[in-house]
Amino acid sequence: MAERFYVNCELRLGRVLLENAEAHHLAAVCRIRAGEEVCLFNGDGCQYPARIESAGRRQVELEVIGVERPQHELPFRLEAAAPLPRGDRAQFLLEKLTELGVSSFTPLRTARSVVHPRETKIDKLQRYVVEASKQCGRNVLLEVRPLTDWSDFCRSEHLPPCRVLGHPTGHRESFAELGGDALVRDLAFAVGPEGGFTDDEVALAVASGWRALDLGPRILRVETAALALAVRFGEAGDKR
Ligand code: SAH
Repeated sequence: MAERFYVNCELRLGRVLLENAEAHHLAAVCRIRAGEEVCLFNGDGCQYPARIESAGRRQVELEVIGVERPQHELPFRLEAAAPLPRGDRAQFLLEKLTELGVSSFTPLRTARSVVHPRETKIDKLQRYVVEASKQCGRNVLLEVRPLTDWSDFCRSEHLPPCRVLGHPTGHRESFAELGGDALVRDLAFAVGPEGGFTDDEVALAVASGWRALDLGPRILRVETAALALAVRFGEAGDKR
């Protein structure tokens, strides 16, 4: 399979000129040469096989020779939210949520959360998404949203009506109890910080239509809980 490259410009059949950082990346870092074929994507849902016409350090000229729309997305929106775990675990979380087909990620500020990403950090998170998308074949980028207070997020009118938060309640609900067909419709899920959601935060969410879901008798770290939810809710959409 041709190597995949993300470009931040409109793509269509015909000539494309890449300059500066993107050209440098292709020509100098990846050592792509004239005559070779690559696959471009820009997050619009398509991928674009392209032939390198000329490769310089500052400019790479390509000929887009096809437009393909392989189906790699879930057939519904899966909106994830969690306080950002520390260091490398944040990168791990974003990579895996991307691979699992999640549509968006909102970093949360909760009563007990400790990592509050600044804008530069959010850009970095979006770069992890691009890297993971190159590797897993997604042509739609998971959208990283700005840091949001839990009290605003959980009451947001823009979320899908089906909302689930991970919380160790001591009672493991089955999917059927969550409402059978809940699995193939738009859904928002959230997990709390290492210190957990406070009782008030859970109560506020429940009052806004969230269901608390217990994930079993062990306490999971933030990223494990988020991925467990992404797997369980994404699964129904990935039937081939
Ligand atoms: N000490 C905290 C645990 C926090 S773990 C507490 O008792 O609540 C971080 C987050 O992961 C939790 O807020 C929850 O959203 C999720 N989580 C971890 N283990 C879970 C489990 N067994 N069931 C449901 N959610 C869980």
